[in-house]
Amino acid sequence: MSGVSDPLEREVLEYLDRLSPELGRLSDAVWDFAELGFKEYRSASTLAGFLEEQGFSVSRGTGGIPTAFVASWGEGAPVLGFLGEYDALAGLSQEVLPRRKPRVEGAPGHGCGHNLLGVGSLGAACAVKRAMEKGRIRGTVRFYGCPAEELLAGKVYMARSGCFDDLSVAITWHPGSLNCVRERTGTAMYSVKFRFHGRTAHAAGDPHNGRSALDAVELMNVGANYLREHVPSGTRIHYVITKGGLQPNVVPDFAEVWYFVRAPRMAEVKEVYARLVDVARGASLMTGTTFDIQFLTGCHEVLVNHSLVQAMWRCLEKVGPPVFDEKDMEFALALRETFATGAGGDNQAGDRGEDEAGSSGSIQVTAGSDVEVLKTTLTAPTGQARPSGGSSDVGDVSHIVPTVQMSAATMPVGCPGHSWQNAACAGSPIGKKGMLVAAKTMALLGVELLRNPAEMKKAWDEFRDKTKGEPYRSPLPEGMELPLDQF
Ligand SMILES: [Zn+2]
Repeated sequence: MSGVSDPLEREVLEYLDRLSPELGRLSDAVWDFAELGFKEYRSASTLAGFLEEQGFSVSRGTGGIPTAFVASWGEGAPVLGFLGEYDALAGLSQEVLPRRKPRVEGAPGHGCGHNLLGVGSLGAACAVKRAMEKGRIRGTVRFYGCPAEELLAGKVYMARSGCFDDLSVAITWHPGSLNCVRERTGTAMYSVKFRFHGRTAHAAGDPHNGRSALDAVELMNVGANYLREHVPSGTRIHYVITKGGLQPNVVPDFAEVWYFVRAPRMAEVKEVYARLVDVARGASLMTGTTFDIQFLTGCHEVLVNHSLVQAMWRCLEKVGPPVFDEKDMEFALALRETFATGAGGDNQAGDRGEDEAGSSGSIQVTAGSDVEVLKTTLTAPTGQARPSGGSSDVGDVSHIVPTVQMSAATMPVGCPGHSWQNAACAGSPIGKKGMLVAAKTMALLGVELLRNPAEMKKAWDEFRDKTKGEPYRSPLPEGMELPLDQF
């Protein structure tokens, strides 16, 4: 912070230092609630309540989602939007310990650090409000409470309601192992269930009368696996059988398979998906069954805005990396022993599932390796948007308004994504130190964009150039309702 001379920027940074214990408490509360996507009632209400106390006006139930909300302060343009998430992952309950010990056996846990994500963005929104008051800056600052990112659904359904349409810019972050501004595009995706209906019969007594829905699922999967060879490179198709009958001597009259189709661009997802529907049709013909489709969600690839990446990088340089102490290092070293098998990987976490470092998208860590355990340096942007395997519903926002995301070190290098190790860090001082760096950087960027219309214009020129004026189209089929019970 010593390099920051601008009084308003100093104010922002000092304010967040003072707010930091409160942010830590909020983050721990959400970490403790550990609620799954679309069920984040207590998490959403805690964050919305805090923002109300801070003078924001809150509108709840955005896009018809009970746990989504928008908190707003100020009026008129420009409108800054900070995106926050707060959903947990199944089965990852964990104490703040560097060894596996569930807090509640089998319960959800914050294995992607979304407790930090939500509260970091909330901190940035509060700090920008503070700066606007102090500096008499006109405009609006909003915090978007975005549920169910892990289901790749929250922001997609929110976007359909038009709640991002009047934003000037969207700013967010994700916990990770590096301190950097993100340049990964991820993949566009569809999440769809194929539901086959057959005819039941005694599997031994009169099998000729049965038409097995499970056979249809199996043949569909065989077809999909042959399809794999003949799709654009970067396409990923994965599935799980969610219903397959109850016992072997009953021909199943119902079976269901849940697919994700991903590709670097939405147009490719649509193309591959149409062929997958043909595969399902073929399977139903072969087995004398019928099928219907339950579309759950879809999301766009992320549109990287390099002007914003550069602007955010300048802010990150002012804030600097987190400062970890000896206890943090001990914790990280002990934790590293639990994954230091050469299998370290997705430490940008989330379904985003990538790391900004390295072209392979993962960092191999071995015990005693000299890779810096906790990143106390910054990783500069390359200026190149790069594809990667995972997806994020931030993608949809990025096709509506110029969007930028950063990462701050909240876990050791090589820490697996969606893991108990990740959950342990998200509840520890390591996570909170990274979160503070993110909040400060995002807040400085917000103030910069409010005070410097030229920066905002650059971001919009790039955005218009990249989208070629094409308006955002929701990946959701027209008129479909959010199938809350299907997730
Ligand atoms: Zn995540």
